[in-house]
Amino acid sequence: MNNLIADIDIISGEEAQACDFKTTPDENTGKSKKLYIESYGCQMNFADSEIVASIMKDNGFDTTADFQQADVIFLNTCSIREKAELTVRKRLSDFQRAKKAKPELTIGVLGCMAERLKENLLAEEKIVDLVVGPDAYRDLPNLISAAEEGEKGVNTFLSREETYADIAPVRLNSNGVTAFISIMRGCDNMCSFCVVPFTRGRERSRDPHSIVAEAQDLFAKGYKEVTLLGQNVDSYKWSPEENNKARLNKKEEEVTHVVNFAHLLEMVAQVSPYLRVRFSTSHPKDITDEVLHTMKKYDNICKYIHLPVQSGNSRVLELMNRTYDREWYLNRVNAIREILGEECGISSDMITGFCTETEEEHQDTLSLMDIVKYDFSYMFFYSERPGTLAAKKYEDDIPLETKKRRLAEVITKQAHLSSERNKLDFGQEQLILIEGTAKKSDQQLKGRNSANKVVIIPAGHAKKGDYVRVKITEVSQATLFGEVLEVNPILV
Ligand code: SAM
Ligand code: SF4
Repeated sequence: MNNLIADIDIISGEEAQACDFKTTPDENTGKSKKLYIESYGCQMNFADSEIVASIMKDNGFDTTADFQQADVIFLNTCSIREKAELTVRKRLSDFQRAKKAKPELTIGVLGCMAERLKENLLAEEKIVDLVVGPDAYRDLPNLISAAEEGEKGVNTFLSREETYADIAPVRLNSNGVTAFISIMRGCDNMCSFCVVPFTRGRERSRDPHSIVAEAQDLFAKGYKEVTLLGQNVDSYKWSPEENNKARLNKKEEEVTHVVNFAHLLEMVAQVSPYLRVRFSTSHPKDITDEVLHTMKKYDNICKYIHLPVQSGNSRVLELMNRTYDREWYLNRVNAIREILGEECGISSDMITGFCTETEEEHQDTLSLMDIVKYDFSYMFFYSERPGTLAAKKYEDDIPLETKKRRLAEVITKQAHLSSERNKLDFGQEQLILIEGTAKKSDQQLKGRNSANKVVIIPAGHAKKGDYVRVKITEVSQATLFGEVLEVNPILV
């Protein structure tokens, strides 16, 4: 957060995410073949890789952390910004030597980049054997068999129904305490800058009973926190009659039991008071007071909302097709503060230098940040994506240096706000969930408070998976430090 590196395009309160990748761990359940997966981009992609690993496991593959050992290499890719795609292309070139040494190695590109580029990827990247979009993972075993016979394969069919509800994800890179649960797929929002509706298809919600069953299973296995994932969780909508939102809308009168996001949150919160519930992402146009009241009702629903604003200026928001304006957004923030109080964490995504953004409009983003006082933000400069509404309708006319300078200003503002917000935690008693050893020292443990802030405590008092009541004794811009008051207090 402190380094304003020239080409940086994403920063978070704790760690950069977007162009990082995560690999699979070594797994040995006696399967005959080895799969190596790298996952790029958002949490949804990491959750998808767990579904892919599960499908592959049923078809004879254990995961490996060493691509040299692999029979199959998958890159589960992101297209959100140009840089994310360039990173994947560069990574593919790293695998060239492995393929040369082992020609029977199968290399697949999965996810958003596969969906966006389709068969062109096979032509452009000669070492790629498979191109598989986010709704076609059930076809992977067939495609791999064909690839083993030397046939290259592409399946980028986008479904209106697929939610992988029946597939139990293989947890990858798991700390054994926190896990993601996908509750919906796709997005119908058509923000003009965004490639997601084209790469992940129409929005569809997953059967709530399968979501609750997954949460129960995780809790039984010792997990203490689940994060419900969707591009726009507040438009979650499911009914026994129809679970496809597009079709459901057509016969709304006939539908009797619609489960909305507030109901789903309540169902998951009731799994156990010892299972924390988080969710991401909330869209400002859809987040309801009902959701906020449900959050208030259950102590185990964490008091933290990721509410991306993108811009603080109403004209730019309209060009972005976000379907809310500055006033609407600030009204939603007021509702959060009124119902959940000052201690509820709020974070955001911001894009600087969107088409035609003026200096004054950029100042509106900075002033909105001052009003909301975000705990942290993911901040980007605008990257035009082919095929999006903005690419078709508007000129990408803000010079790169200006985009980056504005981004640097937004980052500096956020750094200041994060420090200010963290100071408010000083002296407070908070409940944290221990996720493991701290990055910087094995003499310390790392946990998270309800507002999603990292809290460091001395090791020796508690262990991974414990709830600990702490008093915050020191704060920095990114981290809180606490002393232990009580380990595993009774929570009901
Ligand atoms: N569904 C979420 C929402 O509406 O806020 C966000 C999903 S997107 C994967 C994550 C973030 O990437 C967006 O909130 C936006 O700030 C950023 N983003 C998307 N397209 C972008 C683009 N073309 N250039 C720069 N940032 C972009
Ligand atoms: Fe993209 Fe907008 Fe959908 Fe988020 S809500 S995924 S930014 S189109």
